[in-house]
Amino acid sequence: MRKIQMVDLQSQYKKIKDIVDPSIQEILESAAFINGPKVHQFQKNLEDYLGVKHVIPCANGTDALQIAMMGLGLKPGDEVITADFTFAATVEVIALLQLTPVLVDVDPITFNIDVAAIEKAITPKTKAIVPVHLFGLAADMDAIMDLAKKHNLYVIEDNAQGIGANYTHQDGTKTKTGAIGHVASTSFFPSKNLGCYGDGGAIFTNDDDLAHIIRGIVNHGMYKRYHHDVVGVNSRLDSIQAAVLDAKLPHLDKYNEARRNAARKYTQAFKNHPKITTPSGRSSCEGICDTCDCHVFHQYTLNLKNVDRDALVAHLQEHNIPCGVYYPIPLHKQKAYKDERYNEQDFQVTNQLVESVISLPMHTELDDEQINFITTTILNFINQS
Ligand SMILES: *Cc1c(COP(=O)(O)O)cnc(C)c1O
Repeated sequence: MRKIQMVDLQSQYKKIKDIVDPSIQEILESAAFINGPKVHQFQKNLEDYLGVKHVIPCANGTDALQIAMMGLGLKPGDEVITADFTFAATVEVIALLQLTPVLVDVDPITFNIDVAAIEKAITPKTKAIVPVHLFGLAADMDAIMDLAKKHNLYVIEDNAQGIGANYTHQDGTKTKTGAIGHVASTSFFPSKNLGCYGDGGAIFTNDDDLAHIIRGIVNHGMYKRYHHDVVGVNSRLDSIQAAVLDAKLPHLDKYNEARRNAARKYTQAFKNHPKITTPSGRSSCEGICDTCDCHVFHQYTLNLKNVDRDALVAHLQEHNIPCGVYYPIPLHKQKAYKDERYNEQDFQVTNQLVESVISLPMHTELDDEQINFITTTILNFINQS
């Protein structure tokens, strides 16, 4: 059996080496390392793929979120609501801009931001909501957009884990995640569903004016060479990363389908187990039926009941099966983001999930033998304990 890895980027690279290598070579020969034509080409191709008017490439997903918030003109003291159960980057940039992060609980089934909790947290100071499409599953966007409209708030989608996922609206039409809110951010970190071979990120929006503002912000606040109209940042996607991404973009749907395939096999193996809850989709099909595309499984995360998770992690390690706990500490309990206004009983779901979730190896190159070994090893442990 091939060695099991949490993410297997080597095997994936070997399969696309023939298109990636010449594409990088072309950049080396042209020496157009920054703002070369490849960056523009990738930007256009991603706009077409997502069905969004503007993609603005930048240096990483954390920058993308920060720049999106700067572009919206959010001011110190403005409150921004986001999920307690997510990667720290989301809350970090809110705090960095001296906005006030307001963390709220998530839904116990989808792990995504709880819309009722958002509504409860809205005050006259609230200016924006940041839903995260956690683990690759689209958040409840129709409800979030309705709420935002009612209270005149911006919606900034953190799409770092959701690229390629489709959100199905109440009327049955579909939109790609990242093309629904006022603005969205994504990350091209190597392990993300569309990853480059270094750091990268992008901002998406359908708003022409906002796109113009953001294009200046990423480039030192310049709208005319050496005229700095606003305080900006330096955040660029370099041409080599754009070349890698442009070579990989045509494979994104196939990659996400490979992840879904692995997810279906995992879920089949754990089906109806009293101690294991498998990931849910947005609709009754549980996100893993043959046609479903609401979940792109950036992570495949189980929720365990009455299982000693630490012992399971140790057991998997003994069998050379990597796993992860995303995320082990709720953001509201992190030293940097504690706030005396928070009330423990408002975070019951997150407080529970951090104790009971476990993420299994998930990438485009998992084979049946590996999946069988992983599921059998887990079931042996759980059924004996
Ligand atoms: C990865 C990630 C980010 C940050 O992306 P970087 O490119 O690493 O800066 C932000 N939000 C979420 C939810 C992520 O998973």
